[in-house]
Amino acid sequence: MKLDMELLTLETRHTFTISRGARKKYRNFIFRLTWEGFTGIGECAPQVYYGEDEASVLEAVRRVEGKLDGDPETLKDRLFAGDLKALLERDNSVRAGLDMALWDIIGRREHKPCHALFSLDPRKTPYTSYTIGFDSPEVVRMKLTEAQPYRILKIKMGLPGDLEILDEIRKQTDKTIRVDANEGWNLATALRLAEELERKGIEFIEQPISHFRKEELKALKRSSGIPIILDESIVHPGDVDDCRDQGHGINIKLMKCGGITPAREMIGRAKRHGLKVMLGCMIETSVGITAAAHLSPDADYADLDGNLLLSRDPFIGVRVDDGKLVLPGGSGLGVTPRE
Ligand code: MG
Repeated sequence: MKLDMELLTLETRHTFTISRGARKKYRNFIFRLTWEGFTGIGECAPQVYYGEDEASVLEAVRRVEGKLDGDPETLKDRLFAGDLKALLERDNSVRAGLDMALWDIIGRREHKPCHALFSLDPRKTPYTSYTIGFDSPEVVRMKLTEAQPYRILKIKMGLPGDLEILDEIRKQTDKTIRVDANEGWNLATALRLAEELERKGIEFIEQPISHFRKEELKALKRSSGIPIILDESIVHPGDVDDCRDQGHGINIKLMKCGGITPAREMIGRAKRHGLKVMLGCMIETSVGITAAAHLSPDADYADLDGNLLLSRDPFIGVRVDDGKLVLPGGSGLGVTPRE
C-alpha cells in the first residue's frame, strides 16, 4: 500500500482559548493510502497534550512506512492488535489517520458510505454543538452571531470571569448550552458550580476536574445533579471500563483513541455500562470531522465543529443543516477537496 502525506497549515477564525492556553494556527497531516486502485483519505491532528507533535508524527510514519502491506482489513487489525500497534502505541493521531483512510478504502471497494458499513441510519445523526472559546464579552457577542446556524452552544470555562461570560451568553440566547472546563476546577469549585449550572439549565459539564483526580471525580459524580462527561480521562477503550464511576458519559475523539475502529469499541463499552456517548474532535478539517460523523447516529451528543471553526476548510464532507449533521452519500467517507 502506498502512503502519501500532506502537511496542512490551518487557521481558526478566532484565537481559540481554553483553560490550558490559546492558539490560532494548527498543523495537521492528510494521509492518502492507495491500494489496488482505491485511494482512501485520513487526517492526523497531533495533540501536544497527548504527547504528539509534528516531529513525532514524521518519526512514527518513518517507523511503519515500509510495513503498510496487505489488504485493508488485515492492515487495520495490525494497527490495534499486531506489529503496527506496538510501533504506534503512543501515536494515536497517526493510527487515526491511517484507520480512517483504510475505512475509506473499504467503503469505496464495497460502494457503501462508511455509516452503512456500520449499519447506522444516517437520518439519526444528532445536532452538533458549536464551541465558543473563552473571550472578552465583546468578542463573545460577535461569536454568538456566528453561532446563529447552530442550536447547541458549548462554552469553554475554567478561567477567571467564566461565569460572568456564561451569564452574558444566557441573557442573549435560550439555546441549549453545554460547558467544558477542560480540567480547570478543583472539587470544591466543581461541586459549587455543578449546582449553579444545574440551576441555570446547562445540559452537562465536560471534564470539570483533572483526570488524575479519580476519587474527586467519583465524589462529584455521586453528588452532581447535572451530567458529568469525561473527556481528558478517556483515551483508550480500557479507560471506559476504568472510569465508569467517574462520570455519566464519555467524550470520544478519533485523534485521542486512534480512529474509527477503537471509537466503535468504546461506544459499545459505554453503552454496556449505561454511559452516555459524546463524539468530539480537535481542530480538524472535514476529513477528520466527517470520519467521526459517520459514527454519530450511534452517539447521544455530537461536538463535531472543528472544521466549522476554521477560516478555510480545504475539504467538503459532512454538512450541518439547521444544526443537524448531514452525512455525505458517496462511497467511503464521502470527502472531496474544496475547489
Ligand atoms: Mg473537552
